[in-house]
Amino acid sequence: MSLAEVSPDASEEQYHLWHPFTQMQKVLNAQNIVVERGEGPYLFDQNDKRYLNLTSCLWNAPLGLGRSEIIDAITEQLNELSFAALFRTAHRPAIKLAQRLSEIAPGRLNRVFLTSNGSESVESAIKMVRQYFHHTGSKKYKVISLLNAYHGVSYGALAASGFAEDQQGFGPMPEGFLKIPAPFNRDRQSEEERAAFEVACAKELERTILAEGADSVAMFLIEPVQGMGGAIAPGQAYFDVISETCRRYDVKLVVDEVTTGFGRTGTLFASERFNLDPDVMCLGKAISGGYFPLGAAVATDEIWDVFLSDSDGTRFNHGSTNAGHPGACAAGLAAIDILTRDNLIEAAAERGATFLSDLRQLKELQVVDDVRGIGMLFAIDLVRDEAGREPLDAAAMDMVAKACYARGLWIHFSGNRILLLPPFILGDEHFAEAFAGLKRILSRVPAWI
Ligand code: PMP
Repeated sequence: MSLAEVSPDASEEQYHLWHPFTQMQKVLNAQNIVVERGEGPYLFDQNDKRYLNLTSCLWNAPLGLGRSEIIDAITEQLNELSFAALFRTAHRPAIKLAQRLSEIAPGRLNRVFLTSNGSESVESAIKMVRQYFHHTGSKKYKVISLLNAYHGVSYGALAASGFAEDQQGFGPMPEGFLKIPAPFNRDRQSEEERAAFEVACAKELERTILAEGADSVAMFLIEPVQGMGGAIAPGQAYFDVISETCRRYDVKLVVDEVTTGFGRTGTLFASERFNLDPDVMCLGKAISGGYFPLGAAVATDEIWDVFLSDSDGTRFNHGSTNAGHPGACAAGLAAIDILTRDNLIEAAAERGATFLSDLRQLKELQVVDDVRGIGMLFAIDLVRDEAGREPLDAAAMDMVAKACYARGLWIHFSGNRILLLPPFILGDEHFAEAFAGLKRILSRVPAWI
């Protein structure tokens, strides 16, 4: 089919590229942005227009773009050994990365299964826990997770995710996935009401385990702070209840730290911040600073031990060719080195707290319903009018997005929500630029609707 038959405006060079989670008709109908290069906190498009990166390229690049330290580490590794798989044999960068991750991982986490991305880490964790129980002779297999959760795109991760529209048309979903409410209520609540609501949500875990039968429930999968779901960070009481419930019923606590890991919420892992003692932790995104596809499912010795025997029958029958690519491991080691030195995470969290109090001023605007944040993660919920609190519709959100891009602000949009996930390297001047731009754009929205 010729290009002209699809759309007279479509750019010839983009005709064959199918984007993830994207209505391609919109791309074909418009002049699409092509990102040509990146430098620190900035992206540059085909017209050399500069954008301030407020998404860390989908949480991936908190250290900024084009850092020679990481690029040199990858190049050196690829010159030495450009690839070797991890089936039976090891390679040096994977050994070192596993050591490093086990040093920094919270609690009892000690054994590192490398993957290539976040979905694969979650998928690995689900299969790991199910097979763990299988090897112990237990019948536990069910996975409980939260409504409004995002865990990835592969079938297990998708079945555990709580966004109904992401599952639409892909059914049937695998069996044994249950959801409980996320600890978030849009109604404005006092601090006490909020805490009581969160504890009631946490108690849903026990209620569901008992309703299903504790002998059938294998794991509770949770993002300690819901990321794509809108920066939902419950208080400590929530985590105390779910931790105790998991322990009581031998339900493995699996934390999805694909977005919260590596400093996003103000500590290296959100599990530390909330005193969680996970059985498995899923990692991805920022683990390599966004310089190479990488992820990991990190497990306790207790889980690992069950897979050890003289028989291949108990080995973990799972893995993919590129997981733990030598270049990815080199990137991961270099990124972790940078992230864990010079107080980078603490300093970023401090600047994040200041930015959050600025962003809260936006609540005065008619279209801003709620502003939330923790560490370097912020969400702004937009509504049509304050009284009705009807979510801002897709057409108006498109206009907000266009205005942001036109002003050179690179922002993530999800439904009626703006998500800001700035790189940790932003200075005061960048935050001032972001705040002034958002304020100006959001104050103009009532005129558009
Ligand atoms: N878990 C969480 C919490 C995520 O936000 C994401 C991606 N946004 C994933 C898993 C899946 O990661 P990936 O896109 O790398 O497969």
